[in-house]
Amino acid sequence: MISVFGSANMDLVAYVAKAPKLGETVTGHRFRTVPGGKGANQAIAAARAGGEVAFLGAVGDDGFGAEMRATLAEAGVDVRGLRQVPGSSGIAHIVVDDDGSNSIIVVPGANGTVTGPSGEDLAVIAASSALLLQLELPMEAVVEAAQAGKVAGVQVFLTPAPAQPLPAELLDAVSVLVPNEHEAAAITGAEGPDAALDALLELVEEAVITLGSDGALYGARSGERLRVPSVKVDAVDTTAAGDTFVGALAVARTERRGMADALAFASMAAALSVQREGASTSMPTRRQIEDALA
Ligand code: ATP
Repeated sequence: MISVFGSANMDLVAYVAKAPKLGETVTGHRFRTVPGGKGANQAIAAARAGGEVAFLGAVGDDGFGAEMRATLAEAGVDVRGLRQVPGSSGIAHIVVDDDGSNSIIVVPGANGTVTGPSGEDLAVIAASSALLLQLELPMEAVVEAAQAGKVAGVQVFLTPAPAQPLPAELLDAVSVLVPNEHEAAAITGAEGPDAALDALLELVEEAVITLGSDGALYGARSGERLRVPSVKVDAVDTTAAGDTFVGALAVARTERRGMADALAFASMAAALSVQREGASTSMPTRRQIEDALA
């Protein structure tokens, strides 16, 4: 089983010709709500990629919370550990203008209320072979979850986003760090992915730096290095490509496939997701990933 201890957000996306200035009202031409949050995205990606997945987190007692729960459940994610707390669910309020530029307000809502794993959460984590973490919950909660994973001998994957300083006690508990290029540079201060990978391996046992359409770079302290090219596709929407990659990677890893195989599986899952608009709705099923690999 894979457990995901993370955020669930509703993205509220308004499309306008030109974003309003302070005090101004403009009429938009399109609106959509998109279930997201890096935690929920990774859970859905892993479930669609064939994993047995349990989600641990919180939503508010509003309609968005109910919709997030339904979306996760529909993808096959076990939502018994998704708590409902009083107040609003986490939201991202996004304004996209005709040039494609956006401005975003994130209100953590229920995500901001999450503390370290409860007794029930700890049992779920201990029964897992992998635990997926990101940084959209309070840092203390993430650190506690990572430590619980380490104590239980679970492979702990961390997506260090949004980028912020990483406490040593968090890094000590992480097995596989999966930053994108910008996060890797921010964490290490190193220039270029190869130098960043060397620096990351001073901090953790294994790291994968995702490089967008340039693929990914993997390294382990054991000395193994792999460069994974991306699959050449026409990208329509790269939202949640990184989350799709991590979800699929964790599934393949927990099936004890070799790292090269696991990376190819993750890279194909991400490539399939960028060809469709949307976050969770664009994530491929196991069947689609395997057919594309074959
Ligand atoms: P996001 O924040 O949008 O979730 P990210 O910045 O975390 O993404 P990226 O490094 O952009 O992550 O992409 C993750 C993986 O997705 C890449 O390693 C690659 O395998 C795949 N990918 C991303 N963009 C493309 C693309 N244009 N074509 C093919 N594969 C892609």
